[in-house]
Amino acid sequence: MSNAAQSNSAAAESRKSRVVTLPPVSLLSNISAEPFVDTHAHLHYVLEKLPDSFGLTSLEALKEDHFPKNLECVINVLCEPESFYPDLYPGTFRDWRVMASTPYVYLTAGVHPHSARLYDDQIEAQMIEILLHEKTVALGEIGLDYHYDNSPRDVQREVFIRQIKKAIDFNKPLVIHTREAEQDTWDIMREHVPKEWKVHVHCFTDSPEFATKLLEYFPNLFLGITGVVTYSSAKNTQQIVRSVVPLNRFLLETDAPYMTPAKLNRNKRTHEKITVSHSGMIPFVAERIAQLRGIGVDDVMKAARENAREMYGV
Ligand SMILES: [Zn+2]
Repeated sequence: MSNAAQSNSAAAESRKSRVVTLPPVSLLSNISAEPFVDTHAHLHYVLEKLPDSFGLTSLEALKEDHFPKNLECVINVLCEPESFYPDLYPGTFRDWRVMASTPYVYLTAGVHPHSARLYDDQIEAQMIEILLHEKTVALGEIGLDYHYDNSPRDVQREVFIRQIKKAIDFNKPLVIHTREAEQDTWDIMREHVPKEWKVHVHCFTDSPEFATKLLEYFPNLFLGITGVVTYSSAKNTQQIVRSVVPLNRFLLETDAPYMTPAKLNRNKRTHEKITVSHSGMIPFVAERIAQLRGIGVDDVMKAARENAREMYGV
């Protein structure tokens, strides 16, 4: 093979593996007919990641074309300071006012630990403006991420505490992101979060011991379970789902566009990979939880629906 032919075929190969596909709605609808909520997604990133060929320019169209009819609503999470400024992309799906006016979408806002180094008074003022909107149901995701360390740890801690105080000032439930920072997350929460506060610890992947401690101390705290539970490597999350978290203390979430459920992630036959997840994939998370607990998928969906109402009032 000539060099040119070789590089052509390499390019074709990489194009093939980069094809973005989404599953047919029927595949998602067949798992359970129970109504459901995606309690944690970043749908504006989903629309950003999908190629133009999908022709999707609104959250409404995304729902219409790709979500099963039993999806009731989505908690859409704004966690980058850039997304707090609606005038950067006025009137588009990146404008939080547009998100808030979309009937099935609720919002949360808070500065992610990755961006803690950017936090300042002006960003806080923008965040508060979002918190005051009637469709905003919580503050977050905020917390500590010592896996990536994208912001210095002392800054992460300071910004985490400052935002917890804002949640209390504005009477908003908390959405917490914690990764490989168990002791510091625990110490800060024990000191600053009122025991009865509503808390969603999202995409929980830390130890079963930490999960137990949080569930026992905070009676209104829920653990968010994502597509991670479908990965064979996710031993912690699987153990938590099997034997740590009670049925009335978990939430179903996709964390879309991330954490695509395993079954959709690999398709050996076509070599196509579904690399963008979305809220319609929740039934795959429920299906894995049902397997791990040895109960029916409808029972998982019903419990999760009730828990979403309890946590977010949706
Ligand atoms: Zn998230």
